[in-house]
Amino acid sequence: PVDISKPITRVKNICTHCSVGCTVTAEVQNGVWVGQEPTYASPINRGTHCAKGASVRELVHGDRRIKYPMKLVNGQWQRMTWDAALGEIGEKLMAVRQASGPDSVFWLGSAKFSNEGAYLFRKFAAFWGTNNVDHQARICHSTTVAGVANTWGYGAQTNSYNDIRNAKTMIIMGGNPAEAHPVSLQHVLSGKEMNRANMIVIDPRFTRTAAHATEYVRIRPGTDIPIIWGMLWHIFQNGWEDKEFIRQRVYGMDDVRAEVAKWTPAEVERVTGVPGAQLRKVAEMFATQKPSTLIWCMGATQKTVGTANVRAYSILLLATGNVGKEGTGANIFRGHCNVQGATDFGLDVTSLPAYYGLDENAWRHWSRVWGVSYESMIARFDSKAMMETPGIPTTRYFDAVTMPVNAQTGLAQRDNFKAMMVFGHGGNTVTRMPEAVKGLEKLDLLVVADPHPTTFAVLANRRENTYLLPICTQFETNGSRTASNRSIQWGSQVVKPIFESKDDYEAMYRLAGAIDAAAQKRNMTFRMQAEVFKDLEIKDNAPTAESILREINRGAISTGYTGQSPERLKLHMQHQDKFDLVTLRAKDDAPAEIRGDFYGLPWPCWGKPEWRHPGSHILYNTNLHVKEGGGTFRARFGVERNGVSLLADGSFSKGSELTDGYPEFTTAVMARLGWDAELTAEEKASIQRQGGTASWATDLSMGIIRVTMEHGVMAYGNAKARANAWNLPD
Ligand code: SF4
Repeated sequence: PVDISKPITRVKNICTHCSVGCTVTAEVQNGVWVGQEPTYASPINRGTHCAKGASVRELVHGDRRIKYPMKLVNGQWQRMTWDAALGEIGEKLMAVRQASGPDSVFWLGSAKFSNEGAYLFRKFAAFWGTNNVDHQARICHSTTVAGVANTWGYGAQTNSYNDIRNAKTMIIMGGNPAEAHPVSLQHVLSGKEMNRANMIVIDPRFTRTAAHATEYVRIRPGTDIPIIWGMLWHIFQNGWEDKEFIRQRVYGMDDVRAEVAKWTPAEVERVTGVPGAQLRKVAEMFATQKPSTLIWCMGATQKTVGTANVRAYSILLLATGNVGKEGTGANIFRGHCNVQGATDFGLDVTSLPAYYGLDENAWRHWSRVWGVSYESMIARFDSKAMMETPGIPTTRYFDAVTMPVNAQTGLAQRDNFKAMMVFGHGGNTVTRMPEAVKGLEKLDLLVVADPHPTTFAVLANRRENTYLLPICTQFETNGSRTASNRSIQWGSQVVKPIFESKDDYEAMYRLAGAIDAAAQKRNMTFRMQAEVFKDLEIKDNAPTAESILREINRGAISTGYTGQSPERLKLHMQHQDKFDLVTLRAKDDAPAEIRGDFYGLPWPCWGKPEWRHPGSHILYNTNLHVKEGGGTFRARFGVERNGVSLLADGSFSKGSELTDGYPEFTTAVMARLGWDAELTAEEKASIQRQGGTASWATDLSMGIIRVTMEHGVMAYGNAKARANAWNLPD
């Protein structure tokens, strides 16, 4: 019951239903969440919510919460205590580990973790001794990450929702923000109405978003690339490309021009169904009525050619000079609230937090940050080779439950999965990949830790060895989340954990203790709790979110997560009204500690004692010299060979499987290539002109071969080069 004589306190947290990052102000009385309103001060949502956001309180107080730990006994759920449940889980995990090795456990996280939860989960899996850790970005925007990272360095949105207001022309493809990201549409419509921008929606369906368009282009499903090539045909024919931008910043565009020449208006109309006159009209708008931006979502990415779609979009932006300025860029609308953060923190079979690969240098870096020896980390894995080998992605784990070791390569399917740990608030892959049900019944252990009983837990055709652990929602704990535009917002605990639920941090801490107890019984020296949580502040039997973020700040150099301290993020939330709605910059009347910051300190944001980096509102700012982070881009594109798309810039894909971490395939192709063969004289000269020393770097993450240059140019994934650029310790 609510004692209405008690004062109402107001607490800010972030909506968890999509990646826009709207702030919710919760009203709490007597410890009960009694009211809610969209936060007027938030520069993202400015007092608005969509229907989904208006219902977040239901996540906490809805009647479908898991109230206490349970396990399946003869097909019936039986109540347990936390201690009993974790004791049994720890025992079973150690039994599996002893019999089948650390790789026989799959750790499935989620894009609904806080940043701190995602990071801790990846760290936990690393200390368990496996790279079998993944989340749902595998099947949503991982093709985006591969496509844009491959073109210009960072696998992320270049601008922001708010900046869309600055565009004169916008194309929305493969997305329906009116329904999926409703609050973002206010920024799109402000651009259309106040800036008189062209709003072009290219979609096979006439969606609610299309209903707002100034130009609706209906295409045949799956013809995104032909339509982009067709636009480029008109752009090159009429000389509408941005020649100066291409000369200064882009290489490989001549190859694009040669390919595009084949995509005549008649051919494009035959393939896409779009009349030639309309195609010319939108091409002219996009190229000449600038700045222009391209907005996409999962209609573009959840395809067998998802990566290639994203490459095509990026090339259109480059050809028209629409990168690195206000109102331009790739505005990529993510799905869940923290897809960006979960990806940034390595919930991925191919990387460590902050896109460090799995090579020795990366492991040495994180071992240093974690305060343990590199050698002790190797000892946790089956071998050093396994430590450096990508795990099995979500898209194949159901095979790995049942399929034998891949005798030919030894790199994948090396052992059958015996146990699966599903964490992270709706890491409910089963609903998106029904075939994933296959094999679940064969697991020796399935643990689902979630606020709600997900399909994953209840659909599994199992009668025992399945556990449900009640986890808090994000509104019952503290932590930060990264929105689509790379900005980070701090969510504060609204109410205490309800029923017997615990937050992810405490659940992992206690699980580590249970594993240790089971190891001790077996006289094993293997320990988790003392090592994983070594430098973290422990309060009430759980690590604090603040201390986890501070550890992230120490280690996540490559992506620029070093400046977003908990204190700065909290100040941003407290003074949201001091940020400009369009530029997202703190105004002159903001407190001195945040003056000049961009809202949420979008990464890269470098922490350096002598100066305060404001965050990067717009990536690849072309007002800067490339040496200073202004960016240089590749516009090379793919050539199909036997169904394999070999991209002329050295990366290659087999449909969207590029992102599926096929190490054997990648290794074989790389062996046939040879680095110098891919680095042309033109590219070498271009790199040298920019003052860089170039070297090809192998990076199996996402199957990409990347060129890495010193001085901060194209240094994605290479912490050392990035650190050199900013004169930071690596
Ligand atoms: Fe929540 Fe997204 Fe709706 Fe905003 S637009 S209220 S973040 S679901």
